[in-house]
Amino acid sequence: MIIVMKGSTPKEQVHDVIRTIEELGYQPHVIWGTQRTVIGAVGDERGKARLQSLEVMPGVESVVPILQPFKLAGREFKSTASTVKVGDAEFGSDRIPIIAGPCSVESEEMVMQLALLAKEAGASILRGGAFKPRTSPYAFQGMGKEGLRLLAQAREATGLAIVTEVLKPEDVDMIAETADMLQIGARNMQNFALLKRVGEVGKPVLLKRGMSATIQEFLMAAEYILSEGNYNVVLCERGIRTFETATRFTLDLNAIPVLKKLTHLPVIVDPSHGTGHWEYVAPMAKAGIACGADGLMIEVHMRPEIAVSDGIQSLRPDVFRQLMRELAPFAQAAGRRL
Ligand code: PEP
Ligand code: MN
Repeated sequence: MIIVMKGSTPKEQVHDVIRTIEELGYQPHVIWGTQRTVIGAVGDERGKARLQSLEVMPGVESVVPILQPFKLAGREFKSTASTVKVGDAEFGSDRIPIIAGPCSVESEEMVMQLALLAKEAGASILRGGAFKPRTSPYAFQGMGKEGLRLLAQAREATGLAIVTEVLKPEDVDMIAETADMLQIGARNMQNFALLKRVGEVGKPVLLKRGMSATIQEFLMAAEYILSEGNYNVVLCERGIRTFETATRFTLDLNAIPVLKKLTHLPVIVDPSHGTGHWEYVAPMAKAGIACGADGLMIEVHMRPEIAVSDGIQSLRPDVFRQLMRELAPFAQAAGRRL
């Protein structure tokens, strides 16, 4: 339920309502607005009729049900777009942050070179997997803690914020000590224990859409994080499974306007995993910006031919630099800037 407070309600009355929501066994989530304050009361769906009685409390204007199953992620609860800050970057504002870097952290020299390249080309966040979710147990699983150290060193040298994937709930604290943003990969989108844990920790989260997840399931995954009190969630469309085999996945650009309508959370596009081939990355990156993406995530490698993972979809430095130059007019045409 959404409890809408009257325009100039004193804070104490808002707190009375919050306390009563808790007494009724619901979790209050407050948006303190300049015009009016709104409280989302989430919890057991069955007893929500009881919340209706809050209408009699001083300062309460109305109590209305949230119709969508995603309560806190939806526009019903919060109609204005949310922004998520990560280092100097801000997702959801008129600037479009670019996340760039290798699929996996492979060596000290390589991470440092790619960080310098990303910085110089205008990206604001460095990506790189230290813990990798591989389809095969025999494939490279990542450098682990040493990879995190190398990412931190690259941040030190460039000032870029870093995003890296977390695979297990028990690793969240350790990775959050280093990372500026925690990535939940497509294969873990419905790892509910992991979603709850990153929700508790409160660091910004980059949540990737599961390759077979509907938009509703994607938003319900985000809801897990929000319901723990962490609202710093950025959604990432990274391609879904279809019958098509000419590309690795099918980048579902429909999802961008659909998500923008349903949720206030920022939405970014990953054209690297979405296509699986470096030649298709630039056109789909531009298409992502054209349809309203709040950011891009692009895999880059100094020498894709020797990359330990996702070399085929990684851009060479010159191709990446060229793409960064070409993106600016697309951003401008979309009323944004890089
Ligand atoms: C990645 O970003 O390298 C990755 C593994 O992505 P996804 O979870 O979308 O496959
Ligand atoms: Mn990858």
